Amino acid sequence: MERPTQVKSAENGRGYADGRKPVDDLYGAFMSLVEDGWISEAATVSSRERDGRVMMLPIPSLRTKKTGRAIWIISGIHGEEPAGPNAIASSIGIIRDLGRDTPVVLLPLCNPLGYVSSWRYLDRPDWQEDAPCASVGDSEHVLPDLLTPAKPRTPAASSPEAAALVAHVLRLAGTYPPAISIDFHEDNLLDEGYVYSQGRHGAHDEIAQRAVEALRSSGIPIRMTGKTRFGENISGGVVGPQNDGSIDELLSMENIIVGGKTVPGPQAESVLVIETPTSAMPLEVRQRGHLAVLSCLRDIAPKRPIPGL
Ligand SMILES: [Zn+2]
Repeated sequence: MERPTQVKSAENGRGYADGRKPVDDLYGAFMSLVEDGWISEAATVSSRERDGRVMMLPIPSLRTKKTGRAIWIISGIHGEEPAGPNAIASSIGIIRDLGRDTPVVLLPLCNPLGYVSSWRYLDRPDWQEDAPCASVGDSEHVLPDLLTPAKPRTPAASSPEAAALVAHVLRLAGTYPPAISIDFHEDNLLDEGYVYSQGRHGAHDEIAQRAVEALRSSGIPIRMTGKTRFGENISGGVVGPQNDGSIDELLSMENIIVGGKTVPGPQAESVLVIETPTSAMPLEVRQRGHLAVLSCLRDIAPKRPIPGL
């Protein structure tokens, strides 16, 4: 994987008001896994022109040499949510230990340019009504249409990065079939978090329930019942599967559409999306919540048959 070269001026050397690590420090922590024999490969290089300047950063992807049913760890899909990438970088030793005998795929910083500029999407800082927002995790171009399942939901990917990331995920899913995937997000409009469970056990997935326990015991407030801010039902802090067009929905799919044909999807059994609240909580505390989920992976993963556990 190439190291970042053209982003120094975006960070200005002043650090970030919220205390997030400089992006170079994140790459350094992720790349340290290579010393333990992990394979590193950029999913693609993300680029953006702004104010007459082209910024480019690789989307890092690391995996153990050992293949087979794997734990997938994803983060940084939304650039203004730094807790996941920072928690992964700070606790890279936990992931290194997990990978000693267990197949692991790590996609720790899926929107690196969004991270350095706190842009949620590839093409704009925030969600905007009546405007397309290109998320790096957009997967609708391979997800079956809800009314006409033989066709994809959209004719093309929303961005070159989304096309490349989805292709990369599908390629790796062949040799590292996801048994469990965990995608770390935050939500700055929440004061209580919850966990989406997109896999086949839905809201009853005991791994999702364990993640809720881990978050709560780390001091993260969790909404245990009621609705999400999108009106979805919450049961025990867990929200069942949603057709949200995300990379997480893709990982859970039985079937997908590639090249106009219906083919088997990644079929992950447990697909978790961690949503921690950002409101009035410093990054350090939010990061602790994500770290708590990472820390209990070795305990919760044996509930799925994964080699090495
Ligand atoms: Zn998010």
